[in-house]
Amino acid sequence: MKISNAFFPTLKEIPTEAQIKSHKLMLRAGLIRMLSSGIYSFLPIGYRVLKKVCQIVREEMDTIGGQEFHLPALNPIEIWEETNRVEAFGDTMFHVKNRNYILAPTHEEIICNIAKNNLKSYKELPQIWYQIQTKFRNEPRPRSGVLRGREFTMKDSYSLDCILEGLNKSYDLHSEAYKKIFSRCGLKFFIVGASSGAMGGNNSQEFLVESKEGGEDFAVVCENCNYASNIEIATSNPQKIEREKISKTIEEIFTPNIKTINQLSEFLKTDKSHLAKSVVYKVDEKPVLILMMGNDKLNEEKLKKYLHGEIEKIEDEKLVEIFGADGGSLGPVNLKNVKIIADKRLENLNQLVCGANKNDFHIVNIDLIRDTSIEFYADIRTVEENEPCVNCSSPLKIITAIELGHIFKLGTKYATSMNATVLNEEGKQVPIIMGSYGIGIERIIACFIEQHSDEDGIIWEKKLSPFDVHLISVNTDNQNIMNTAENIYNELKENQVDVIYDNRLNITAGVKFKDADLLGVPIQLIVSERNVKNGNIEIKFRNSGERSILKIEDIKTFILDFIHK
Ligand code: ATP
Ligand code: MG
Repeated sequence: MKISNAFFPTLKEIPTEAQIKSHKLMLRAGLIRMLSSGIYSFLPIGYRVLKKVCQIVREEMDTIGGQEFHLPALNPIEIWEETNRVEAFGDTMFHVKNRNYILAPTHEEIICNIAKNNLKSYKELPQIWYQIQTKFRNEPRPRSGVLRGREFTMKDSYSLDCILEGLNKSYDLHSEAYKKIFSRCGLKFFIVGASSGAMGGNNSQEFLVESKEGGEDFAVVCENCNYASNIEIATSNPQKIEREKISKTIEEIFTPNIKTINQLSEFLKTDKSHLAKSVVYKVDEKPVLILMMGNDKLNEEKLKKYLHGEIEKIEDEKLVEIFGADGGSLGPVNLKNVKIIADKRLENLNQLVCGANKNDFHIVNIDLIRDTSIEFYADIRTVEENEPCVNCSSPLKIITAIELGHIFKLGTKYATSMNATVLNEEGKQVPIIMGSYGIGIERIIACFIEQHSDEDGIIWEKKLSPFDVHLISVNTDNQNIMNTAENIYNELKENQVDVIYDNRLNITAGVKFKDADLLGVPIQLIVSERNVKNGNIEIKFRNSGERSILKIEDIKTFILDFIHK
């Protein structure tokens, strides 16, 4: 491709709309342009990278026996109602105004529908079906460029089995394929156990890339024993508090203007482990009081697992109506008709202080066994940095990360709702067991740039680079230079080398060098008067900045060796 007649709109200035490195560089290097919040056009050079990523993904999916589909993005809403997911997605789903259609945010329902209508017997299983296709999600806060778009490309695949071992095998195959894909894409990534909603157990894993700036996920990791988990399900071994031998009598005390655990701890000169905080959620229209130790943070994802439904925090104004007191003065004693759940750390403790359900009063000496009717205790707290690891007690770290991919054992949830069954080996109709596996294609590109760039621009590795070689002619008024560069260009093209050739006439060499570093193709070939007169040209490696001189006649072999090594 010759730049003189190509669309290669680089930007000198850093676009103000971009906060993170990858977003800035994708705009500056002319890979993408924003159309509207969370909606991006891939320009020709960006699209080359996108296609390379898709090809790597495709090859690895084919290797594990995946069969590529192309499913419609426009879906009749009824199919999504069969699984109740119109409601579950809520505002995240785009609805078409003049038809009963939605724009698909994922494709479990469509896959399940095809399976239901076409698969009859265990003999046809297992199947792995995949596609690389546009997804639509009305993300409330699209940010960081293509990392969180409202329209984005996903590789989504689905495994169909009728025995659990089959699902486990398909899941493991995906796990291996994902490792290969991300490694081939040159990414440093790590894997964590993740929330698997209703399925429970170790049935879901996320592939993450550490990123302070772009990360929206939090992972808890132990550098000693390699424990790694999304914070949504992470556990730790926090300091254990023992029940005291004697439970004193409870007593209501005046605590004027004391609203927070810190204020209460100071006021009573009591350690926070003896204070319990109450938070109230609405579940199925009913209030549920959640009791946490001290300043421990409630983990909504964990809580959801125990409450089996949508949970919603109750606004402070409503609390007075229900409890007769404000948020800072609530507690579990003498509560009627309100379910109480407590964090495991509080299990059977005594000598606790809680709100009295009366503004400005707390109750001391509470014995949770004697004075409350807690329905159950469960691990519903959020792990904090430096808490001891569950496995080895080393201090845990919390890492901010971007989710690249997610693999998930779905089980029979979808097949049951949609009545998708097959005959098993015993001749019984059984629901199809599904797995669902996703990768964000744009996220691979943005994460690569986050990890491989410097102040001058992107530093592509050859597998993802939009071109193999960036050829630059320096002295454009010298016909000999232009001819030499043209000959190199043609020779490389004839040998299937993908060359971008900066043949622009009215542009200074400095600008060309800057654009080449910004675009970040691994090899730059620089054709200048100084070297050509000795039969040489200069080669610059973008990653190391190293330069060397090559004989013009050796270029072809050198480049072909580089590409194929
Ligand atoms: P997140 O928690 O980041 O919103 P998710 O859990 O909703 O992701 P999945 O539904 O598992 O994501 O989708 C599979 C993959 O698609 C994700 O791992 C991610 O790489 C990508 N992805 C999801 N949402 C977006 C988005 N809005 N923009 C770009 N890629 C996305
Ligand atoms: Mg999401």
